[in-house]
Amino acid sequence: MDQSAKVITRFAPSPSGDLHLGHAYSAKLIYDFACAHDGDFILRIEDIDHLRCKVEYEQSIFDDLSWLGLKWSTPVRRQSEHFSDYKDALDKLSDKGLLYPCFCTRKDIKNEINESTRAPHTLPKLGPEGIIYPGICRNLSDDERANKIKEGIPHALRFDMTKALRLVDGPLYWTDLKTGKQLANPKLLGDVVLARKDFPASYHLSVVIDDHIQNITHVIRGQDLYYASHFHRLLQYLLGLKKVTYDHHPLLADKEGNRLAKRDKSLTLKSLKEDGLRPENLDALINEYL
Ligand code: GLU
Repeated sequence: MDQSAKVITRFAPSPSGDLHLGHAYSAKLIYDFACAHDGDFILRIEDIDHLRCKVEYEQSIFDDLSWLGLKWSTPVRRQSEHFSDYKDALDKLSDKGLLYPCFCTRKDIKNEINESTRAPHTLPKLGPEGIIYPGICRNLSDDERANKIKEGIPHALRFDMTKALRLVDGPLYWTDLKTGKQLANPKLLGDVVLARKDFPASYHLSVVIDDHIQNITHVIRGQDLYYASHFHRLLQYLLGLKKVTYDHHPLLADKEGNRLAKRDKSLTLKSLKEDGLRPENLDALINEYL
C-alpha cells in the first residue's frame, strides 16, 4: 500500500440474516480504525447469493449500524448490481487458462472422497476449510466438457490452483496489520469455485474485485477468513489489482466455544435492542464473548 494513501476500510455483511453481536464487534472495529486514521468507512452489501439474501435483512443492516452510531457514504455498493465486473475478471482468468468447468454435485465429491479413503496413499487432502476439492473435473477432456455442457448439466467454474501458481514469479507476500509481511500460501484452499452453478460469481472473486474498485486499503475481518486472505493475494496478483493490508480479528464465541451465528436469535442486534440493550453497553456484552 502507498503509505500516504488515505485509509479506507469496509464492513461487508451478507443480508442473509440479522446481524448479531459478532457483527457489531467487527463493524465497530473497522469503523474505529477508519476514524482513528482520519479515513473513510464503507458499507458494502454482499448479496450475490440471491437464494439466501433478502431485502428486509438489508434494511435491518442499515438500521442496526445506524443504532451503533456508524456513518457511511452512499450510494452503498450492492454486489448483485455488479455481475459484469465479476465477469470481466472471470474472462481474464479464463484467458490465462486458469478456470475449468466443474459439474460435480456435493454427492459426487463425497463419493470420490469415500473411494479414495479406501486406498491409503490417496487420502483426501485436508485444507484449513475442510477437504480440498479432489480434482474430479480438472482432467476432463475438451470433448467431455463440451458434451456435458451440451447435455445441460449445470457447472461451476473452478480455479486451477496448480496452473495459477506456475504463473507466479517468485514468492508472493501480503501484509498483516499486526504481524507484518506474510508469505502467501494460497495452495491451502485448492481449486476454489470462482463462479457458482446458481450465479456467476463467488465470495472469493467478488470481494477481491470490490476491494480493488472501492480503493480499500485495509481489510479488517474475522479470523475465519485468514486463509482466504492468502488466496485473495494471489487473485490480486493474477488480475493486476491493488494490494491491501489485512487484519483478522478474533471471533466471538459462547462459553462452550461455539462461534456466534446468524441462527442464534437471542444475540441478534434486533433482539438485543428489543431487550433494552443500549449501544453504550454493547462493549461490556461483547467482552463476555471474546
Ligand atoms: N460477506 C462476508 C461475510 O458476511 C464478509 C467477508 C469479508 O469481509 O471479506 O462474512
